[in-house]
Amino acid sequence: MQKFGFIGLGIMGSAMAANLVRAGFEVAVWNRSPGKAVELVALGAKRLETPQAVVESCQVTFAMLADPAAAEAVCFGKYGVLDAVGHGKGYVDMSTVDAATSRKIAAAITAKGGRFLEAPVSGSRKPAEEGTLVILTAGDRSLYDEALPGLERMGKKVLFLGEVGNGANMKLVVNMVMGGMMAAFCEGLALGTKQGLTTADILDVLDAGAMANPMFRLKGGAVTRGDFSVAFPLKHMQKDLRLAIALGDQAGQPLFTTAAANEAFKRAKALGFGEEDFSAVLKAIT
Ligand code: NAP
Repeated sequence: MQKFGFIGLGIMGSAMAANLVRAGFEVAVWNRSPGKAVELVALGAKRLETPQAVVESCQVTFAMLADPAAAEAVCFGKYGVLDAVGHGKGYVDMSTVDAATSRKIAAAITAKGGRFLEAPVSGSRKPAEEGTLVILTAGDRSLYDEALPGLERMGKKVLFLGEVGNGANMKLVVNMVMGGMMAAFCEGLALGTKQGLTTADILDVLDAGAMANPMFRLKGGAVTRGDFSVAFPLKHMQKDLRLAIALGDQAGQPLFTTAAANEAFKRAKALGFGEEDFSAVLKAIT
């Protein structure tokens, strides 16, 4: 059975790594806060002391980190991925970052004789637990082939999109749409309830028409109960909007709606809701 490494055991990474262990792969893990590895070790994973040690222990290492700063720290930092990555070893970064960060990491890894694949994911905590993510890979095709048995345990659909940067850009486009939808949805709920309409009726009407979608259904039910328990942290949604807006700047593409949504998420973060679910943007709107 193949051996894999997994770096970054947050909400998503811990669930994804657990699926690899359950599938019977030998999995070596590292997380900045070591406590998050405890459950995985009980499941059969091996905790190592550094990202370098994880990459040294296997041919293909996955990473699932918070943001560009975290992805760079793990790659370029002391005892980082780069310290071990030569000789055809593969590094698959599944974090949501901008294309420039992904290309920077790819260049450093390939310069040392390693192979790089970016593989950001669509889907949240539950799809991560159930192994039903949509995985947007781009980069080294031979590494894609080698990582596929692992990727197929984490996702229900694995796309190969060509050059490094295409996966990152696709992910930002998707999340930009999702952030805009969530902000508009929360404004609709806020305005409607101020007019005396009930949340239940608004959700019912939205669900009956062409705008019906699983996100409104799922998050609508939760916010009605005042449940903002985290699946996708609000601070990460704001990071994705910020990165999409920067991409819009580079491309000369106006993003009117995204810029407005970003302000709502920034405000929610400033109010202290960054660690809650991204649906907590409602609390900054009402
Ligand atoms: P999370 O729970 O906040 O986990 C973030 C991970 O990054 C943790 O392992 C954290 O380590 C690590 N990290 C942060 N800064 C670091 C640093 N400087 N050095 C080393 N490690 C660092 O986030 P998540 O929800 O799992 O999301 C992970 C990535 O997937 C993000 O890019 C997010 O945008 C993306 N994503 C999330 C979802 C979702 O629904 N949650 C869905 C799709 C994509 P510690 O444990 O030590 O803090």
